[in-house]
Amino acid sequence: MIADHGSDAMFVAGGTDLYPNMKRRQQTPKIVIGLAHLDKLRRVQGKPQTGLVLGAGLTLSEVVEDRRVVKKYPAVAQAAELISTPLLRNMGTIGGNLLLDTRCNYYDQNYEWRKAIHFCMKKDGEICWVAPSSPRCWAVQSSDCAPLMVAIGAKVKLVSSSGGHLSERLIPAAELYNDDGIQHLNKRPDELLTEIHLPAVDTNGSNGNGWRATYWKLRRRGSFDFPVLGVAAWLRLAGDGTVEAARIILGGVGSHPIEARVSEQAILGKKLDEETIEQAAAAAYPTAKPLDNTDFAMSWRKDMARYYVSGTLRELAGLPPRFPKTGGGNGAGLRVLSD
Ligand SMILES: Cc1cc2nc3c(=O)[nH]c(=O)nc-3n(C[C@H](O)[C@H](O)[C@H](O)COP(=O)(O)OP(=O)(O)OC[C@H]3O[C@@H](n4cnc5c(N)ncnc54)[C@H](O)[C@@H]3O)c2cc1C
Ligand code: SF4
Repeated sequence: MIADHGSDAMFVAGGTDLYPNMKRRQQTPKIVIGLAHLDKLRRVQGKPQTGLVLGAGLTLSEVVEDRRVVKKYPAVAQAAELISTPLLRNMGTIGGNLLLDTRCNYYDQNYEWRKAIHFCMKKDGEICWVAPSSPRCWAVQSSDCAPLMVAIGAKVKLVSSSGGHLSERLIPAAELYNDDGIQHLNKRPDELLTEIHLPAVDTNGSNGNGWRATYWKLRRRGSFDFPVLGVAAWLRLAGDGTVEAARIILGGVGSHPIEARVSEQAILGKKLDEETIEQAAAAAYPTAKPLDNTDFAMSWRKDMARYYVSGTLRELAGLPPRFPKTGGGNGAGLRVLSD
């Protein structure tokens, strides 16, 4: 069907992102191709020792409740569980979450609202209201699972039947995203996301010499809200606790999941003590470049990046937390506690 209808058509899985966007006429496909009945997209295959494969059509609730995911990939279950509400997690899929549209205060409004400001570059207009002299759109990557999948080095399988023959490609999750609020996905409209390949886990003991990961989310309320900052951290430690490999990914502060390379460099080859962690956290501050197009003041979100990087690394190092993990409330409490 997608090969027949091209860019007139869009896939829909749970519809929890696409249908609200269609109601607001932000996305206007003529044909919607439902995926919910495709059982093959709702399978969990493989095993943790070699890498679990999640079907893109698994609902977020199914991911959160899968025993293999909970036991061997707790960070994946954590990130998925922080999304929205139980009802939406029963409908929304893990694939739809990775392909979530980028968000912006000037875009996620109804048609009349957007019309009143003559629309914007992302849909129907010409200017960017966030950065009027900018030639590009800065809408924000707002999926909770995207930074985590990039951090743990997951891969995604994209399948197409365009041109009359079946083709597929398996790419690192990091390559799925572009730093552009409009062309935010490195994926053609005819490509179906079928599988998410999680990396193999070390099964020699609880933490062994394997990798560990976590995800922290900042939002106004303790439930329901999209992230205005998400930090996913992944580490591989040597037997003596030295950091052998690290990926720290910032979500919600740019149009794509941003790798905090200077923070990673600050901990590589070192043991995760208080001083090293604070150096990595300080380096996250210039890396996060939020603009004024989501909830909360952008300067505060930028500031919070360092506290959240510190929080994720402290958790992975087994150090006591300085403030709660999933920021609900107005955030002021977090500032006081962390100071
Ligand atoms: C009130 C509310 C709060 C929310 N809060 C959060 C939140 O805190 N964090 C968060 O991350 N998300 C949040 N969401 C967004 C959404 O619910 C989730 O991201 C959900 O996982 C999207 O999945 P879906 O299956 O419903 O996607 P859909 O709406 O079905 O699809 C989303 C996009 O992906 C495409 N697509 C879906 N599946 C495939 C596939 N297999 N292959 C190719 N293309 C596909 C669709 O064409 C569409 O472009 C929220 C939504 C609402 C309404
Ligand atoms: S960042 Fe600018 S162009 Fe993009 S959605 Fe927001 S206002 Fe529109």
